[in-house]
Amino acid sequence: MNFFLVFENYFEIKPFISNLETEKISNKLFLYKKNNINYYLFVNKTEGPLNLLDSLYFLKKEYKIDFIINLGIAGSIQKNLEKNRVYSIKTVTNINLNETKVLRPPIDTDIVLDQERDLLTVLYLQKGNKKKWKYFGDLVDMEGYFVAFFCDKYSIPLMILKSVSDYNDNINKSDNLEAANALYNYFVSNISYFQELGRGKYSLEIYKHIDFSLKNISDVNKLSSYLSSNKFSFTERNQIYNKIKINYNKSINNYFNNKKVLKDEKKNKNKGFLFIEENIKNKKRYTEKFSGYETVTVENYLDYFQYKIKRNYSNIFIANKKGSVIKHKPPKYGRKEFINVSVTNGYNCPFNCSYCYLKGWFRSDDIVIFANKEYIWSRMKKFIQNHEDKKIIFYFGDFCDALAFDKITENVKYFSEKIKDIKNVLIEFRTKSINYSHLIDMDLASNIIIAYSITPQKIITRNEKNTANLKQRLQALRALNDSNKTISVHFDPIIYYENYYKDYKSIIKKISNIIDEKNLFSISVGVLRMPKKVYKTIKNNEPTSVLKDLKKEKSMYRYSKKLRDNIYDKIKNELMKNFNENKIYICMD
Ligand code: SF4
Repeated sequence: MNFFLVFENYFEIKPFISNLETEKISNKLFLYKKNNINYYLFVNKTEGPLNLLDSLYFLKKEYKIDFIINLGIAGSIQKNLEKNRVYSIKTVTNINLNETKVLRPPIDTDIVLDQERDLLTVLYLQKGNKKKWKYFGDLVDMEGYFVAFFCDKYSIPLMILKSVSDYNDNINKSDNLEAANALYNYFVSNISYFQELGRGKYSLEIYKHIDFSLKNISDVNKLSSYLSSNKFSFTERNQIYNKIKINYNKSINNYFNNKKVLKDEKKNKNKGFLFIEENIKNKKRYTEKFSGYETVTVENYLDYFQYKIKRNYSNIFIANKKGSVIKHKPPKYGRKEFINVSVTNGYNCPFNCSYCYLKGWFRSDDIVIFANKEYIWSRMKKFIQNHEDKKIIFYFGDFCDALAFDKITENVKYFSEKIKDIKNVLIEFRTKSINYSHLIDMDLASNIIIAYSITPQKIITRNEKNTANLKQRLQALRALNDSNKTISVHFDPIIYYENYYKDYKSIIKKISNIIDEKNLFSISVGVLRMPKKVYKTIKNNEPTSVLKDLKKEKSMYRYSKKLRDNIYDKIKNELMKNFNENKIYICMD
């Protein structure tokens, strides 16, 4: 097997060629052989990214490249990272830090060792370690992205190891040499893992599909032997990789022991930044509510709400919405007699349901809360004036959950005041959240609708883990009904499983005993569907069994027409036994 160690600078490769018994192939390429592995050491001699890419293309023509490790020094923009310590890179992004602009989206590496960090590759020296930059990554270099780009293009497994030479401020030669020595020592102390990696026929392929640490190499090799002795085809192997990701929580041992485990989505992400735009009023309200986040004041949230790079961090943006706020809903959405329009009051949602259409909608999954209610209301008012005498429903919560942060934003209270005397206009706040208690004693206008999406507990456990459970949602409906709020219920999305009908039947019965007819505004029925882009994002990033029965139909993935019609018939019939038919509608089909 041929493993290529790629260095940009000569001082970085020097400890390797001085201490290892290498054979010189050219003045840029050396070979070190150990048992079954040829380690080719290539140095770009500080000739920059274009030459580096050129050389890699050339090497690929000359040699079979099984694996590339980019090794080098990097500046740290995190003060808490140690100098001369080696970090394994998880993602690498091409960025202009001075202009806060992501130039090319992040690329994931395939194999990590330990101490995972995110790398930023800049095109020219950009000194400093501004607090805001930490949002994008931890370490800065000038070549990592280009190696990753090459590996990505040719599907070559990649590892990046960076040794911290400085804090991206005062770069000097002796620091560089120490960091380069640290890199060599780190490589040598971990060489047994690389040797093991060369043993498994499919080990590199496994790493390409499932992101394990190299320290898991014995499990990976065990899986490789199993695949090899059973002579599984490429497609069969891919199915096994997907199974390990979806059903076995990325554990090879669980797979062999047939111990199915759902992905631990509840595991908290690290709290990252609370970005607040500088002209937001009453910033304290947000800093107090989101304590634990590092607060940074910025001019425009869009400079940061770009690509999500550090995926194990959750960040929050408090911003003012600019531009358009109102968008017509697609045809067949909502009750026919109304103009149905959505209002943008935030982006993304903390609940992370496995089928959520927001996955892949934005480049980042960070949460954005729009604080300028006055502006949002001014746009709604204009819409109302332009549609005088028409019945309108504004929907909050299209790009977020409408109640998840309502205790902070107080949107329901504010907009209730605004529309209480405009009888042809309603506003619906749609949620799966437990945050409704603050509404109970509020004197809400009757044209404010609080809407709950309802799914059986089986689906909540499997696909909506961070939301309110079924019991809590039914309790919410009861409390809202008993305090005379206007309510809608959405059986949307219905996710098909063998006994779904029995579960829905029982839920419908319970709800009919909870909500008084006078408080019910509507009940919708919708079956799981998602745009192609969302389907692909879920399939690539977090494959889940929820995608199983979906088929492509025009630009959407849906269940077959036969299955959908069957679901609609059964659920609608059940609803009609318990509720007024005029309030029931099928959504978007
Ligand atoms: S509650 Fe709604 S918006 Fe939030 S993750 Fe789930 S499906 Fe998406």
